Amino acid sequence: MRYFIGNWKMFGVPKSIGILSKINSYYEKDKNRNKYRVIITPPYTLIESYSKYFNKKKILIGSQNCYQKEQFSSNTAAISPYMLKSVGAKYTLIGHSDNRKEGDSDMMLKDKVRYAIKKNLKVVFCIGENKTEKKNKKTLSVLKRQLTKVLEKKFNKNNIIVAYEPIWSIGTGKIPTAIELKKTTIYIKTVLKRIFKKNSPAVLYGGSVDGSNVEMFKDIREIDGFLIGGASKSSKKFIDIIKNYYR
Ligand code: PEP
Repeated sequence: MRYFIGNWKMFGVPKSIGILSKINSYYEKDKNRNKYRVIITPPYTLIESYSKYFNKKKILIGSQNCYQKEQFSSNTAAISPYMLKSVGAKYTLIGHSDNRKEGDSDMMLKDKVRYAIKKNLKVVFCIGENKTEKKNKKTLSVLKRQLTKVLEKKFNKNNIIVAYEPIWSIGTGKIPTAIELKKTTIYIKTVLKRIFKKNSPAVLYGGSVDGSNVEMFKDIREIDGFLIGGASKSSKKFIDIIKNYYR
């Protein structure tokens, strides 16, 4: 199974659902549709209405983050996994570099993952090195630390997807070379196999993926799909990624 996950970040109002309707129409007619899953993470404000609208359809709705407590608490503006689940979210991103930058520590991320899984949300756990770490050849050690500090064998592996998103690639148009990416993805899967003592969860790539570069990724069989930011805000650009991937 491949995954095409669109992360809308701070984008979208109720009428933006038109973008998803077009993606859904394409998906329902696509002869390759059984090979992949489409998940969109709009802002919190749209999760309930979009989840209701796509309830019987193919697109699944997720959240971009969740709070590190299970149910209710006194933290202003926080949204828990229970609250997300109650409005129809099926997935949540956790550990996106935007949120790590704002202070999400490994300990907080571990709680987020734990409670999200407990509430039956599937977790897309984001990891990735920054430009300096890459320059200093620290990529693999950074990824290993990010994975081993947060993920544990007792977490249900079937509820976890890992998204490798080099920070220097997000929104910049720069992408790793095919050789680098293959090597890094294989390494991530090796670490995950060690953590879970069995097969690795799916590992996605994220960072400046678009319709023109996605063909390069399809030869890297270890990559199980994509986390797509900018290009997910346009139905045409998002559909082009899927079309060109299966061409
Ligand atoms: C992201 O922010 O998760 C992302 C992958 O963004 P972009 O595709 O725009 O690089």
